[in-house]
Amino acid sequence: MNDYLDLLSMEFMVRALLAAFFTGLAVPAVGTYMVQRRMSLMGDGLGHVAVTGVAIGLVTSASPTWTAVVAAILGAVAIELIRERGLSGGDVALALLFYGGLAGGIFVAGLGGQSTSKLQQYLFGSITTISWGDVLVTVILAAVLLVLCVGLAPQLFAVAHDQEFARVSGLNTRFYNLLVAILAAISVTVAMRTVGLLLVSALMVIPVATAQQVTSSFRRTLWMSMTVGMTAAVGGLLTAAGAPSSADVAPGASIVLVALAIFLVAWPFGAWMRRRDRLNAPFPLLDEAPDAVPHTDPDDTGHTHLHGEDCGHRAVPHGDHVDYLHDGHRHAPHGEHYDEH
Ligand SMILES: [Zn+2]
Ligand SMILES: [Zn+2]
Ligand SMILES: [Zn+2]
Repeated sequence: MNDYLDLLSMEFMVRALLAAFFTGLAVPAVGTYMVQRRMSLMGDGLGHVAVTGVAIGLVTSASPTWTAVVAAILGAVAIELIRERGLSGGDVALALLFYGGLAGGIFVAGLGGQSTSKLQQYLFGSITTISWGDVLVTVILAAVLLVLCVGLAPQLFAVAHDQEFARVSGLNTRFYNLLVAILAAISVTVAMRTVGLLLVSALMVIPVATAQQVTSSFRRTLWMSMTVGMTAAVGGLLTAAGAPSSADVAPGASIVLVALAIFLVAWPFGAWMRRRDRLNAPFPLLDEAPDAVPHTDPDDTGHTHLHGEDCGHRAVPHGDHVDYLHDGHRHAPHGEHYDEH
């Protein structure tokens, strides 16, 4: 036990823990939008493209992190353009891009006389060899991702949820689509050192799938997936560090397995909650509760709070307004008063 604590306080573990913490928070935040847009595997594709970027970095002795960022962003923009044009056979175009990226990376690394073991660090992650410079880059990029994912949540959610509606309501959907693609590219590079390019998508998607088991509002899914991702990243790293010294467990693998374990715990719980909700509410539920209703209760009928997103009552769409469900009735704000429905 003392050996374990000694290990954790060693400088390389402190660096690894910092990188895992920020990666675990930021990558699932981006993943929330990818899952919402049904593009769960885009991170995987961008990971393949980033391999070429890493190889170019290794061969030219530029920083592989930055060459990977550039390659992944170029790949993300290409994917977004292919998707936007609705090119027939778009999935074939994507496949060509992905396999080209992986093969190109191995080829370039070989040309430059780099052994593939160097490349392997990036394919499977190598968080325990991360330098202070890499930690700094990881933290800065993760902070940028977090600020944009949380700060622009209303716009990004609107575009991910319903393109047509977002366009009609005046949002520049093209800009936000490209922005999500670029955020995905950056998060691939952030996760590269932690879980490796081949498992990037796992950290992007599994925490979101877990959060969706137990939350229905989009905003709560965002926060919950960040919490799960951070727990899995730090927990997985601690698990790998605790393995017997004869073992050589890659932290990337244990991080993904811890994330899966959390999912397996949340799954039956979520199924139970959904069953309970169905029994309680035979009405269609809103994905996203509306904003708080600015309404006080002049008649003192026992409704002394504002019905709204977090009031604890279920929001139910009803024609042109929203009812709140409680105590066996539905009930909606109409101007100055609440009507029973
Ligand atoms: Zn309420
Ligand atoms: Zn109503
Ligand atoms: Zn009420």
